Amino acid sequence: MDQCLFCKIIKKEIPSEVVYENDSVLIFKDITPKAPTHLLAIPKKHYAGIHLVPPDDSIIFQQLFAAIGETVKIIGLDLAGYRQVINFGDCAGQTVHHIHVHILSGRDFTWPPG
Ligand code: 5GP
Ligand code: ZN
Repeated sequence: MDQCLFCKIIKKEIPSEVVYENDSVLIFKDITPKAPTHLLAIPKKHYAGIHLVPPDDSIIFQQLFAAIGETVKIIGLDLAGYRQVINFGDCAGQTVHHIHVHILSGRDFTWPPG
């Protein structure tokens, strides 16, 4: 079966600008940034959406958000502020079907989101 784009990025078959990596999580720069800082945080295990993760694998959420927490402190977003977005499905505009948290910072964001 064909691997998804982000699985290829995890395996370094497609290059990316990595900001943080451990055994379970990769955080890298979005190729088309929507803000001065735009990172994507992904679990290395492939799931298309958070509701598809079985309860016995929910440790990936702990690993993902722990890595995000560490990264935002390292690069100073904890002081600047940041927005996180997870899209799923066509109505939300998901284009890559591998769980990813957008981390956006460096400008003001509107609420509610568009
Ligand atoms: P989605 O629209 O699924 O929520 O977000 C997918 C994101 O992946 C988009 O913001 C898009 O710019 C980013 N993206 C798509 N292809 C690549 C790529 O090859 N490399 C990187 N670094 N980001 C990508
Ligand atoms: Zn994948």
